Amino acid sequence: MSNLNVVPVSPHETAPRHVKLLILGSGPAGLAAALYAARAELAPVVISGTELGGQAALTFSIENYPGFPEGVGGAELGDLFQKQAERFGAQVEFDSAYNVDLSKRPFKVATDNGEIQADALIITTGASPIHLNIPGEQELTGKGVSYCGTCDGWFFKDKRVVVVGGGDSALEEGLFLTRYGSSVTLFHRRDSLRAGAVLQKRALEHPKMKFIWNTVLAEVVGNEKVEAVRTKNVQTGEESLFHTDGVFIFVGHTPNTKMFEGQLEMENGYIKVDDHMNTSVAGVYAAGEAADPHFRQVITSAGMGAAAAIEATHFLERETG
Ligand SMILES: Cc1cc2nc3c(=O)[nH]c(=O)nc-3n(C[C@H](O)[C@H](O)[C@H](O)COP(=O)(O)OP(=O)(O)OC[C@H]3O[C@@H](n4cnc5c(N)ncnc54)[C@H](O)[C@@H]3O)c2cc1C
Repeated sequence: MSNLNVVPVSPHETAPRHVKLLILGSGPAGLAAALYAARAELAPVVISGTELGGQAALTFSIENYPGFPEGVGGAELGDLFQKQAERFGAQVEFDSAYNVDLSKRPFKVATDNGEIQADALIITTGASPIHLNIPGEQELTGKGVSYCGTCDGWFFKDKRVVVVGGGDSALEEGLFLTRYGSSVTLFHRRDSLRAGAVLQKRALEHPKMKFIWNTVLAEVVGNEKVEAVRTKNVQTGEESLFHTDGVFIFVGHTPNTKMFEGQLEMENGYIKVDDHMNTSVAGVYAAGEAADPHFRQVITSAGMGAAAAIEATHFLERETG
């Protein structure tokens, strides 16, 4: 977790309080929404969740966010987002939401610290890459283990890279990684790929890509950075050590949207929004990876957050003056 500053909230606070605009999530989408809403003088409250700064704060360096020609640390970028929003009156609280009632306004949100009622709500709870849950994976995340080729590929120029997965994301990101890596070796637990035919053909014919079938990762090995992976053939049980500099894991993504099921329209777990970030409930907006299975970048998530805040501002002007 990053060490961003947060406003402490008493754990014993139970009486519901009322805010104009509540934002769930403190990743790029939530903090960009907070900045825009704060500048519209809505005094937004941001419920941070357990990952202050969001997924972006997990990565060592972000080099594709405009305005930082030398790149910026992921946690530092989250900190800057937060400070900028707070400068205009946003309040970031270290707290998590676990239940919502969106059936009527004010919307009710149950958090670990009590109930909050809000005239408008922006959901930016993001998504989490599915992890393999093997030894070394968590410890070496950001030190060679990554869940985003577009983000981290550049760091692996002329290095050996391993990709895990057999779907579209694994192949798309694997092909992207061939621009940088000296070799891209894909490990798949089955003997055939799930990805689309065109993508499969391109990947299978690519001179830099190699495929190891029927094999799973059992461990990521390394001290300060990834040095190898221990693999296991699922048919023979044979274990091997495979030397690599990077491990890119693409075995799926789960949007953090479970608590909205049955209350908002969704598609494959992602909250459905129109191009103004409206959800199926008036006054409830969603932005960033909670609503976007496609782009999954800091800049696109922040852009969606800003758009949601602009729309929420108009909504509140219409509804409450
Ligand atoms: C290792 C890694 C490296 C990356 N590198 C880059 C990069 O270089 N460039 C780039 O553009 N993108 C990168 N990405 C992708 C980028 O981080 C995401 O696209 C972006 O963070 C999504 O922003 P978001 O605000 O939609 O969601 P998230 O960043 O996922 O934030 C979600 C927020 O919601 C909060 N939350 C979740 N559940 C609850 C709850 N119940 N109550 C309250 N809050 C909740 C979390 O605590 C978190 O603050 C990377 C991702 C990873 C994992």
